[in-house]
Amino acid sequence: MESLFGRRTVVASYDLQSQLTALSDRVDPRLGIDPERLMMRHTLFPYYTAFQPSEVRNKAAADLLGSGTASIHVRLGIATFSIQRPRRLRYCPDCVEVAVSEDRDATWLRGHQLPGNIVCHVHGTILIDGAVEIDGLNRHAFSHLDTSSSAVIAPSLPEKTGDLLKCIARAQHCLCASIRPVRELDDWKGHYRERLASVGLMRSACKVDHAGLEEALRDVLGPALPFLPAACSSFGEHGWAALMVRYHRKAMHPLFHVLMDFALERLAPVDEPIAPKTSKGAMDASGRHPAALGREARTDWSAIDRRLVIKLRHVRRKIASATPPERLSFASLERGAAGPGWIRKRANRLPLAVAALTTMTETDEAFADRRIAYWTERLFDVPTWQILKAAGIRSDAWSSYTANVEYHRRADRAGRAA
Ligand SMILES: [Zn+2]
Repeated sequence: MESLFGRRTVVASYDLQSQLTALSDRVDPRLGIDPERLMMRHTLFPYYTAFQPSEVRNKAAADLLGSGTASIHVRLGIATFSIQRPRRLRYCPDCVEVAVSEDRDATWLRGHQLPGNIVCHVHGTILIDGAVEIDGLNRHAFSHLDTSSSAVIAPSLPEKTGDLLKCIARAQHCLCASIRPVRELDDWKGHYRERLASVGLMRSACKVDHAGLEEALRDVLGPALPFLPAACSSFGEHGWAALMVRYHRKAMHPLFHVLMDFALERLAPVDEPIAPKTSKGAMDASGRHPAALGREARTDWSAIDRRLVIKLRHVRRKIASATPPERLSFASLERGAAGPGWIRKRANRLPLAVAALTTMTETDEAFADRRIAYWTERLFDVPTWQILKAAGIRSDAWSSYTANVEYHRRADRAGRAA
């Protein structure tokens, strides 16, 4: 400590090391390592402050560069987050192998210590717990990466889960790589509500479609949830997603922002066509060979297919809750999710969407029954035929639907009694 910082009382920290100015003063100036560079490239400052208001960010920077104490973890709320820091320093066996093959010393990497990540952001390999306990007793020691102690064989993940966890790990690591434009606590609610509106997850200008949001998050993040911290699977009124779209009293954990952003990015926008702009027609019109358009010309149909299924579920919920009841038809669902005829024309490329559409489409009988349920609930003490008439059932079919009215009357009475 004395040779690095000039003081033996400095506390060693793997994530938010303070006294960086003192440290850089002792590093050979020819290396050009100034204190800001140390802070940005060798600490978790950019990660933990990515979603903090400017005042907190500035004070945290002053803490790290100057003589900040352990209070920086309190200042950034790290101790009270529902997502805990890893308990041990971790490493990726593949990163170690690469370092060894390039004749470098394998070292601890900050990207492997991000809370919530269980895989390497580069290799997707499951991270291994090293021997060093983060909240261990010796706060004045520096520990070398030692891979000899851990003979733990990491379990393998299902392919889809592994890919998803790697994507999330990458998105988390991106927060370390640059400093994000600052946004004050007041701005997050509006920011996320705007984004929800763009993917059709607002019921009105000020009401969030919470059920739809949860469904969308589960759809996108589902396979990863069992491997993320437990707080990430907590939804509902007090869950993280609900907190995220309300007024932020304090900064939310970076992982929650990453997950929300990750999921919203993968939902289809409401007002834009689902197909990328370089669709087949556009290519023909431009007269260029598809290869000339490069990467963008490739259309990821399976991604579009998956997004469409999420969108269809949303449209179905919207149509099913309309009053008076509206029909869940192939055409109305398709129109709401993509546009008239859009899915039908591309049916061979969109098997999931077509399957979803088919199961969501209502039969004549099912739709008639929903209308009868609706009017039974609203017309009391009237003869059965009046309910059938209000429900739009043709008079020659009344006899076939009398039993439906009886059923809904009984269900209604039971519901009211309860
Ligand atoms: Zn790795």
